[in-house]
Amino acid sequence: MKNFFESAKPFHAALVLAQSKIQPITETQEVPTVDVLGRVLASEIVSPKDLPGFARSGMDGYAVHSLDTQGASSQRPIELKVMGRAEMGQDPASLPKLENGQAMEIGTGGPLPPGADAIVILEETERISDSRVKIFSSISTGIHVIVPDEDFKKGEQIYMTGHRIRPVDIGALLALGYTRVNVFRRLKVGVISTGDELVPAETQPKPGQIREINSHILKAQLTELGAQAQLFGIVRDDRSALLKTVQRALDETDFVLLSGGSSVGAKDLTEQVLGELGQIYIHGLHMKPGKPTIFALCSNKPVVGLPGNPVSSAVVFAKFVAPLIMKSAGALTSLALRRERGTLHEEIKSVRGRTDFVPVVLHFEGESPQIERVKGHTTNISTLAKAEGLLYIEPDSEGFSQGDVVWFEIW
Ligand code: AMP
Ligand code: MG
Repeated sequence: MKNFFESAKPFHAALVLAQSKIQPITETQEVPTVDVLGRVLASEIVSPKDLPGFARSGMDGYAVHSLDTQGASSQRPIELKVMGRAEMGQDPASLPKLENGQAMEIGTGGPLPPGADAIVILEETERISDSRVKIFSSISTGIHVIVPDEDFKKGEQIYMTGHRIRPVDIGALLALGYTRVNVFRRLKVGVISTGDELVPAETQPKPGQIREINSHILKAQLTELGAQAQLFGIVRDDRSALLKTVQRALDETDFVLLSGGSSVGAKDLTEQVLGELGQIYIHGLHMKPGKPTIFALCSNKPVVGLPGNPVSSAVVFAKFVAPLIMKSAGALTSLALRRERGTLHEEIKSVRGRTDFVPVVLHFEGESPQIERVKGHTTNISTLAKAEGLLYIEPDSEGFSQGDVVWFEIW
């Protein structure tokens, strides 16, 4: 019997080799943004405008001229004249211009009146009458103000071609007014199960038979990746039957998965059939589970022969096939990783007793990837749309120091 360890390839080398053989799909379509979850962008997205487009308050409090507050403290408050309230949703141009000595009540997200350049938070004020407010702190210009281009800047590139749409990306696209987006058409993946012992999962197995489950696991895994699975049922361990079904799957789909029969036993026909239909590049991976995995190109389409053991099939799919599927679908991300590691570019503080989830991005400069926090108010969807992950800070931690090596969760 053939010994796998003679021809088997190291996992990463095999993945790189298989990826190098894959041509991403090129056909595109326009899809309503609300339905675009999991799809892959076929064009880059540039911000068509500044967002929010007007200055907003980041806190509940009073809009003021910051210069008026100079010298104010809890011992020596200053007093300002209250000119009413900047209501949520109000056109800022309809608000009176704030003159020196005046303040206007404002809520989080409310429009700053012309003339105002900072917000004193409610906790640092005391309303003494309808028309007077005491200010207990001295603030500088810009404090708690969300500037007109803080969320997105006109002309700024937001997503590259190949970006896979996450839930927050739908929000960012809609906030910018993109109601339709250009994406690659969904990848169609054929799934074939092989084995004389298998019966459809909804039927009662006779002694010696087992229910076929791999195709359903694979279909669900494919669905999670945004691909469209087409099941070709159970094929007996018979060369010509398998040949026919693989040929049909190649005709009807972009990428074919076979489960079972990928080893080197008498009844393992995947290698033989794929060899007849195309070229095998990999047979055997130095990985566990999943050693008897096959990668081939048939009619220029990728075909993976997965081991039949459900655990092997599921793991090989998640770690080896998923990156290949994503590349075929035109995506830049592999989705095989759920966590990333890097060195903190800056200190990130937390408070004991609080659990923090900090949006972060990775920069590949120097030797190790650097993690940077995405700054911005929580009203800015851009902070999540630009994030690659969320850094978790445990409740009993006061945060991390610059230079700490930490893991974060892919977002
Ligand atoms: P194979 O790779 O064909 O030698 O199969 C390895 C083991 O996995 C055998 O015990 C099979 O019965 C089992 N198996 C193969 N395909 C499936 C499937 N689609 N669903 C459930 N078990 C399977
Ligand atoms: Mg089998």
